Amino acid sequence: MKVLVINCGSSSLKYQLIDMSNENVLAKGLVERIGIEGSILTQKANGRKYVIEEPMEGHKKAVELVLGALVDENEGVIKDMAEISAVGHRVAHGGEKYAESVLIDEDVMKTVEECAKLAPLHNPPNIIGINACKELMPNTPMVAVFDTAFHQTMPEKAYLYSLPYELYEKHSIRRYGFHGTSHKFVARAAAEMLGENIEKLRIITCHLGNGASLAAVKNGKCIDTSMGFTPLAGLTMGTRCGDIDPAIATFLIKELNMSEAEVDNIMNKKSGVLGISGVSSDFRDIEGAATEGNKRAELALEVFKYKVIQYIGSYTAVMGGVDCIVFTAGLGENAIGTREEIVNGLEFLGAKIDKERNNVRGEARLISADDSNVKVFIIPTNEELMIARDTKEIVEK
Ligand code: ADP
Repeated sequence: MKVLVINCGSSSLKYQLIDMSNENVLAKGLVERIGIEGSILTQKANGRKYVIEEPMEGHKKAVELVLGALVDENEGVIKDMAEISAVGHRVAHGGEKYAESVLIDEDVMKTVEECAKLAPLHNPPNIIGINACKELMPNTPMVAVFDTAFHQTMPEKAYLYSLPYELYEKHSIRRYGFHGTSHKFVARAAAEMLGENIEKLRIITCHLGNGASLAAVKNGKCIDTSMGFTPLAGLTMGTRCGDIDPAIATFLIKELNMSEAEVDNIMNKKSGVLGISGVSSDFRDIEGAATEGNKRAELALEVFKYKVIQYIGSYTAVMGGVDCIVFTAGLGENAIGTREEIVNGLEFLGAKIDKERNNVRGEARLISADDSNVKVFIIPTNEELMIARDTKEIVEK
């Protein structure tokens, strides 16, 4: 079975065609600048790069070109569109309705549309992408895989904010969590690497990229996660502030005369390690500046590590211990020094890093010492493969 995975943004579309018999990626590509001048599709397949530069007024045209690139006589990887057995769509928000991936029908589309109020930047382009695919492949089953679904197993005490209960009941204000597909993928992979049943494990997954979140996965189920009603909550991130006193927002509006849009922009785009360091949102730049003695860059890294350690401590407490910690995403997979310092901050758990094992980037492996009380892994995330696996499972049912 071949599954096409689609991740649709407002002006971009990422895709992968995966052969599920061996989970090999047959082709992957990126369409950029949809609906604006300079539209471009770049596909990598058969060790070659294929570029199409042609106007794309909308997502339907983009999907048309993607399908064309996949069946292209010289650059393609399949002979006929009919070889695509199913399409898996990444969807940002499934609200409280979806704790799992689901076969797309009219009811599902309605719910995804309703959830757009919770993810106004992400669900609308996801919907456009699904509709474009449905028009061009009316007989191919499509599956929605939600970023929020894995976290739907959180108990009420973990997802409820201490606000008037009506705000939850009437306006759906609660913790949802994001990066769910990634947390699910690496938690399962960790159990496999340990050779143990995930239902007997307490795992903390650390998705540390530009956006960053942690999840506490007990017996295979997420019981808490650091992002909240939106992806702004939790850890210090590249440009997002993470947890702050909510009264700061009203202070900025009242005392500094900022508009709602300015506050939103500061908290989302100008905060995090960028805001503290004044250097960059990219941890490579910040680590570089810190090494050269830049005090604020050093401070940004200190704050970031402190938050990760704090959350790991708190999740250890609520799970009654931890068997395994996983690092993933850009920083988690690559930042050797930062990873080491986080593990060094977990001495109370008896966690110990093996420096040599940790001296690696982007490779799935155990990095804790043999006498560590907690197993620590790096596991490169693969959200596309998780989406394809879910899609296959649902379509085969
Ligand atoms: P996104 O959230 O955009 O998907 P990624 O998971 O791709 O982010 O992570 C990107 C981030 O990972 C970069 O901004 C950078 O901070 C960090 N990163 C990537 N490589 C390294 C590295 N070698 N050392 C430190 N940080 C790195």
